[in-house]
Amino acid sequence: MEFTRHPRAHFINNRTMEIFRKFDGLAGDIEKAQPPVDLWRKFVYCTSLSGSVLGSVDHMKQEDFDKVISPISVAHFSQYKLVDLLLNKLEGIGFHTCFPDDIGGRLTRDLVLENKILMGHECSSIQLTDEGILLGASFNNGGTMQERKLHCGLLLAADGAKSTVRELAGISMEGARDLQKLVSVHFLSRNLGKYLSSERPGMLFFIFNPDAIGVLVAHDLEHGEFVLQIPFYPPQQMFDDFSIKVCEQIIVKLVGWEPADVQVLDIKPWVMHAEVAEKYTGCNNRVILVGDAAHRFPPAGGFGMNTGVQDAHNLAWKLGLLLNGVAGPSILQTYESERKPVAISNTKLSVQNFKAAMSVPATLGLDPTVANSVHQVINSSLGSVIPRNLQKTVLEGLFSIGRAQVSDYILNEKNPIGSLRLARLRSILDEGKSLQLQFPAEDLGFRYEKGALVAEDCAETAQQAEKLKHINRSSGEYIPSAKVGSRLPHMLVKTLSSSSEGVLSTMDLVSGDKVQFVLIVAPLKKSYELACAMLKIAEELTLSAKVCVMWPQGSVDAKVRGSRSELAPWTNYVDVEEIPRASDNSWWETCQVSKNKVILVRPDEHIAWIKESDMVRDADSEVRRVFSQILCLNRQQV
Ligand SMILES: Cc1cc2nc3c(=O)[nH]c(=O)nc-3n(C[C@H](O)[C@H](O)[C@H](O)COP(=O)(O)OP(=O)(O)OC[C@H]3O[C@@H](n4cnc5c(N)ncnc54)[C@H](O)[C@@H]3O)c2cc1C
Repeated sequence: MEFTRHPRAHFINNRTMEIFRKFDGLAGDIEKAQPPVDLWRKFVYCTSLSGSVLGSVDHMKQEDFDKVISPISVAHFSQYKLVDLLLNKLEGIGFHTCFPDDIGGRLTRDLVLENKILMGHECSSIQLTDEGILLGASFNNGGTMQERKLHCGLLLAADGAKSTVRELAGISMEGARDLQKLVSVHFLSRNLGKYLSSERPGMLFFIFNPDAIGVLVAHDLEHGEFVLQIPFYPPQQMFDDFSIKVCEQIIVKLVGWEPADVQVLDIKPWVMHAEVAEKYTGCNNRVILVGDAAHRFPPAGGFGMNTGVQDAHNLAWKLGLLLNGVAGPSILQTYESERKPVAISNTKLSVQNFKAAMSVPATLGLDPTVANSVHQVINSSLGSVIPRNLQKTVLEGLFSIGRAQVSDYILNEKNPIGSLRLARLRSILDEGKSLQLQFPAEDLGFRYEKGALVAEDCAETAQQAEKLKHINRSSGEYIPSAKVGSRLPHMLVKTLSSSSEGVLSTMDLVSGDKVQFVLIVAPLKKSYELACAMLKIAEELTLSAKVCVMWPQGSVDAKVRGSRSELAPWTNYVDVEEIPRASDNSWWETCQVSKNKVILVRPDEHIAWIKESDMVRDADSEVRRVFSQILCLNRQQV
């Protein structure tokens, strides 16, 4: 693996934190190591970091802290720190990193058998063979480039937005390219961190003034760690123009005073795209794209890493079952049919968010589309006529005339134009039409419509589903649902077994340690019958499965007998009692279903099947049909 320590601050949404929560307490580690919420909950719009605040938006609500919709809150954490935590977790389960210098002449096969993670290796060639993929990984051995060959059955391409593997596999991207070119400046300044912590704490600072514009991302105010994003327009402005000195000067213009301790660590260009891979697998399904290799969004709304982690979560249990011979090979296709629509939808949302972010400068008279048009006109009219330096002068001259719109002279309450613009800005911010941080309707409410699930039991029409999507999207709210393909809604429950009494989330009913299916049932005769059939068929298929019996609050029976007699001889079940938030909302009401339904939950906490138990005549054959569909088995296998 080649290894880039991206200096990106990540907003981690509820769904990703739920996944991290089950990964050996990773979410807890993030919560401990992240900066305090009060230092990052706001986006601030200002003329400089010490100049006028044009507006600010607080993106955290009380219910985020009360954990109403999820057992865990959102977080804000730098990507490279997250990678370090992940590597620690991998060490904990026996995987160890090693670099070309540590390896010497050792055989690749031995390294793989010893669970070594080969750092400093870059996949540079792939070749499809009868058994899988023969991969070439180049590495620098004491100054000379060498190549190591590896055989693998499957190759997961998680090599980022510029994915070499994707290109080698001949998979193209679809969507909009080159939306914006930016320079990312990673720098430290404890003085600036201290100043912002006390004067105007926030995560994102959108700064517009006559000398410069930029977006400052505060990774960690306590440690004074920042990344500045500056748009640039080649070929008039080139990446090489952004020397350390130039970047320091821009920082001073945006801060409004000169922090004495600015230390620029890294300057990198990047290009914003809005694209999704035409397909998620290639080379006879031997290559599988994951994360940015499969999709690249504008980083507006924090969907990139979150979507990537959720791709991996979707794929992991399917791979586990496939490699253990429990699922059929076509389960891999369900990875694409489930995740690609999510990526397409998140791409659209990110573009929409990017436009919402741009509505603020546009309102202030700094319309980015005008900047792009000016740039295009210069490219087409002057591009081949006058030298680059002169074009640069013209472009920057025009930009500087544009930036005069945000001078104190214009942007003040006494100037009629300025006061109108400020009033418009206030309404954009108050009405939630600027860039938002949280998208619960999409983060938690996304739903798989086709894939490793039994979709036909879902009675609603496609039209109704579309209508529901619009309602959720326009309110931005997450509405819990037990529809097939949805994430299992969170609710607190109390376990009733004498050995382990405690309060947990319904999401904890699904094991984080093994690939296990869970059937949630109410204590009803027909539901118990289906539960027994499910446990029996799962055992036949060598599939790990568990039943969860959901008792209403205060059930005496549950405490006295539990489900022992109804589920005997099976012991892989748990009795839990609802702890509804509002006294009239049972688990089934929260899920908007009647309690004679049974709900089958997949190892990734998505609902695979829901059925009214009264409607099932032959429980065994119904469960067989359900598993064969979810696991993509053929007739002989069931
Ligand atoms: C400015 C900015 C802000 C962002 N903010 C957020 C946010 O708040 N929330 C969010 O969810 N997302 C955010 N993102 C998006 C997020 O950073 C990406 O979606 C995420 O990093 C993708 O993870 P990945 O593992 O797929 O790819 P990467 O993080 O790019 O990792 C790919 C890895 O593969 C390695 N590699 C590359 N080529 C090869 C090769 N040939 N062989 C072997 N290894 C290779 C690289 O060195 C790297 O280590 C942001 C992005 C940007 C640019």
